[in-house]
Amino acid sequence: MKMPQEVYIVEVGPRDGLQNIEQFLETEKKVQLIKLLAQSGLRRIEATSFVHPKAIPQFRDAKEIISGILGLKDVQFSALVPNLVGAKNALESGVKELAFVFSISESHNKNNVNRTREESVQELEKILSLKKENPDMKVRVSLSTVFGCPFEGKVKEEEILRYIGRVKDLGATTITLSDTVGYGNPKQVRQIIKSCLNQFPSITFGVHFHNTRGLGLANALVCLEEGIMIFDSSIGGLGGCPFAPGATGNISTEDLVFMLDEMGIRTGVNIELLFEASRFLQNNLKDIPLSSHLFKAGPPKGWSYVCTTL
Ligand code: ZN
Repeated sequence: MKMPQEVYIVEVGPRDGLQNIEQFLETEKKVQLIKLLAQSGLRRIEATSFVHPKAIPQFRDAKEIISGILGLKDVQFSALVPNLVGAKNALESGVKELAFVFSISESHNKNNVNRTREESVQELEKILSLKKENPDMKVRVSLSTVFGCPFEGKVKEEEILRYIGRVKDLGATTITLSDTVGYGNPKQVRQIIKSCLNQFPSITFGVHFHNTRGLGLANALVCLEEGIMIFDSSIGGLGGCPFAPGATGNISTEDLVFMLDEMGIRTGVNIELLFEASRFLQNNLKDIPLSSHLFKAGPPKGWSYVCTTL
């Protein structure tokens, strides 16, 4: 066991959480949500997505969201970018970290970003070349459908390793492995994580689990046991993928922080302050009950909370 003593949570609620929600959340409410998340101690927040507004109308205000949060201190914001145009727009708006997404399975990639995988790799190369004019930009490559695809089912391990290799050869150093539709199970996840860590020791891996079939936290736990320190989660367990039928939310930030706290692993997040963000979100999305277990059930009797600063 090489369990880390602290982990970094990437809060993806404002992006992954909201992208599947038809009701448009007003810009100032999105900004307020991000501020509350930052106040709770979350230091990495995926704030929005620079996709074409026709593809996901929820993010037609991406630029305004970024300008509303640029002044926040000590928080590293990222934005999802599906292509070069999105990357340029994000950089222009003041985003320093881009999350470039493509899928390990060809059919999901075509559905999600309307490209073949090879075309996505070429697009990534162009995005990475923007570093010449933007030396402080960072790119996190988010690989979707690593643990299963809604169109193709199981994904071959050699395909996963092949595309990680391609991405690494282009110079990317941070890669998130995503279970976009909640197909992964702990045994399979452990096997894939072990292979990735063995084959690519220079890459910093993060993980992103959806809780579609209830195994999200179990999958996160085995990653923790394998030494992974970067976990995506979303406030309230909001989330989904508009192009992945049946996909539901990410593992919830409240539940993840609670599990880590109870295990003595530092996150820097204060659950009581996090609940302020949960309540704010629930009050503004009245028809969508948040799926976080901790938020619904409340903390256990006698529970006392000590914020673990990083
Ligand atoms: Zn996701």
